[in-house]
Amino acid sequence: MRRPRIDLHTHSTASDGTESPAQLVRTAAETGLDTIALTDHDSIGGWAEARAAGEREGVAVVPGAELSCVAGGISLHLLAYLFDPEAPALRAELERNRDARTPRAREMVRRLAAAGHPISWEDVTAQLGPGATVGRPHIADALVAAGVVPTRNAAFAHLLHADSPFHVGRYATDPADAVRMVRAAGGVTVFAHPAAVLRGRTVPFDVIAELADAGLDGIEVDHRDHDADARTRLRAFAASRGLLVTGASDYHGDGRENRLGEHTTDPDVFAELTARAERAAALS
Ligand code: AMP
Ligand code: ZN
Ligand code: FE
Ligand code: FE
Repeated sequence: MRRPRIDLHTHSTASDGTESPAQLVRTAAETGLDTIALTDHDSIGGWAEARAAGEREGVAVVPGAELSCVAGGISLHLLAYLFDPEAPALRAELERNRDARTPRAREMVRRLAAAGHPISWEDVTAQLGPGATVGRPHIADALVAAGVVPTRNAAFAHLLHADSPFHVGRYATDPADAVRMVRAAGGVTVFAHPAAVLRGRTVPFDVIAELADAGLDGIEVDHRDHDADARTRLRAFAASRGLLVTGASDYHGDGRENRLGEHTTDPDVFAELTARAERAAALS
């Protein structure tokens, strides 16, 4: 039998992807994927539509989210899967992260406009999908629409980069708390692109080790932001700490070059994640 193709990191218009949840699932079917996880930033807003589309298209949809976290002033992303969306603590925390996004994005727009880059808050909201969590990619889209930069990538290179004077920080969850909250909600966690150095500072491995002690299940190794050397080091680290290793595309539709299914997760690893979530749910 053909090995199932599993992509555990994708974004829809419920955050900063450019395809609706249903379109994303259709793209997955066209790409020949068997399973995708929908992991919008701090949001579960796309779950229902993606699940319904998955039933029509014959694609298994894993419910998930990519949680914004910060540790020692360094931002990081935690993929969470298969958790109960009604679990009160986690639900409140997702909301808290979403609520922090709007004032922060508004302040970034204010700084950009004050420096002569002609965009307004309305230009940014015009770029948001229904119910979307706002982020820098939407500011990038507004800058592209205003003719300031040619692409999202160009906007991130300078104006929106973490080191830019226009960049503003915001509240994000403590990652060890996030790991415990997701576990308590019957889910599992995987550290997203832990060595994506081009995006800004990354946390040292001893922070990941502390998260492993808190119950982190795995780390995302096969991701386009990791070069061969980073993958080798991450694999060795995962082996030393007993962490599962995943691979995924981090697809954002046309918003980034990442192609759906460009990296995938071993079916045995996915089965282990699912089994752990079942055990966590039974205890929660
Ligand atoms: P935010 O959460 O508002 O700080 O925005 C971060 C998001 O921007 C990440 O989730 C990425 O998906 C996206 N991003 C980061 N770098 C780039 C880039 N070079 N081009 C397009 N999107 C990017
Ligand atoms: Zn994103
Ligand atoms: Fe991410
Ligand atoms: Fe992502």
